[in-house]
Amino acid sequence: MKIAVVGTGYVGLVTGTCFAETGNVVNCVDVNKAKIDQLKKGKCPIYEPGLDVLLQRNIKEKRILFTTDLKAAIDKSDIIFLALPTPPGEDGSADLKYILNVAEDLSEIIKEYKVIVNKSTVPVGTAEKVAEVLGRKLAPELFDVVSNPEFLREGIAVDDFLKPDRVVIGTSSDRARDVMNELYQPFVRQGNPIYFMDERSSEMTKYVANSYLAMRISYMNEVANLCELTGANVDLVRIGIGSDSRIGKRFLFPGIGYGGSCFPKDVLALHHTSKQNKYDFKLLDTVMKVNKNQKKVLFGKIKRFYKNSLKGKKFAMWGLAFKPETDDIRDAPALELINEILNAGAEVTVFDPEAMANVKAIFGNKIKYARDQYTGLKEADALLIVTEWSEFRNPDFERMVKNLKSKVVFDGRNVYSLEKMEELGFYYNSIGRKIVN
Ligand code: NAD
Repeated sequence: MKIAVVGTGYVGLVTGTCFAETGNVVNCVDVNKAKIDQLKKGKCPIYEPGLDVLLQRNIKEKRILFTTDLKAAIDKSDIIFLALPTPPGEDGSADLKYILNVAEDLSEIIKEYKVIVNKSTVPVGTAEKVAEVLGRKLAPELFDVVSNPEFLREGIAVDDFLKPDRVVIGTSSDRARDVMNELYQPFVRQGNPIYFMDERSSEMTKYVANSYLAMRISYMNEVANLCELTGANVDLVRIGIGSDSRIGKRFLFPGIGYGGSCFPKDVLALHHTSKQNKYDFKLLDTVMKVNKNQKKVLFGKIKRFYKNSLKGKKFAMWGLAFKPETDDIRDAPALELINEILNAGAEVTVFDPEAMANVKAIFGNKIKYARDQYTGLKEADALLIVTEWSEFRNPDFERMVKNLKSKVVFDGRNVYSLEKMEELGFYYNSIGRKIVN
């Protein structure tokens, strides 16, 4: 099949590459010329495990091509995916300007039947809005608009896309349904379902999934805070509840608040949709408040330990990305923590396996960047763990002890066992567990 993907970011690039991998010819379009130039040279602009290998193979086979020319890409394609940003507007609603502007451009370009697919996370009613914009210039038989939300997780995006738990497709057109069904067959060979539904339900499904996951994290963060006050250990409580099949083991890890480009904006957008419909969705309101507080929890622990006197203190920070296995720092808890440290007159040297360049673009020389995870510890008063990268889980503790000025660790991700830290003589303050030493 011949496909265009408009927007070559985290979602667009993975989508385009995976469709090319199953034999389709994909033209990826982006307005960011630097990104397209990089991709044309075969360089992957993001860190996403497994993506680079697939990208190289499909570039070599000429199944994936890159351009800034929307018309050229559309003319060569039958299916057009929109993988464009939908950031929060001032009122919290998803800003649809990228989607609707491209829809307007498409209405000038399209000359024969195309299926236009919303891959972006968009509010209920967006498929109708896109159809309305297209319909101003195009006859109805020249297009169908489909909602096909994406559920991939950064860090395992390729796997998620190639083997999705389910594919959700919202369309009221039989013709578009057949096209989408054929396109996705290679991805559901193991028997995972494609759910066809109306556009509105499909659009809603994505927001409800992300908001539910954000709520689950927030619930466990509240449980962790209560565990600290009562002397219970949240890790044991997590295991205790997770073995109940009604609850399930996944997504129960407490921490320092959810971040990333999706959960915060999607909860906000669903909350806005509720308000627009004059529905008071109290749970969502609370989820946002809980998360805001949780992002401050680690800094609160640090302030208490140093009795509010942080001036001149030196910290080492491990982890910047909003989660492991990505270079994405959008809405990452690390950013807020760095700001708080700097505002308190302290210094911080950071290390992250993949996200250093993105953080440097924001903080420049206001903070220091370590060459590796150990050099940043030199002369540091304490280590702060912010992202649970695998390489932080089993470090060389002797080297840590040698480099750190004091054996003090604040862990926002519960990376170490209390017993181990007790044995090594660290002051160790984590989330939802007793303070050691
Ligand atoms: P992104 O910012 O990484 O990528 C968007 C791309 O669109 C950028 O490269 C940008 O330059 C390009 N762009 C902007 N305007 C354009 C235009 N007029 N024409 C062509 N390209 C244009 O965003 P993302 O993380 O890939 O997210 C895209 C959408 O997918 C959002 O709605 C997001 O909520 C949703 N989503 C994201 C994830 C995720 O994990 N990142 C997962 C599921 C869904």
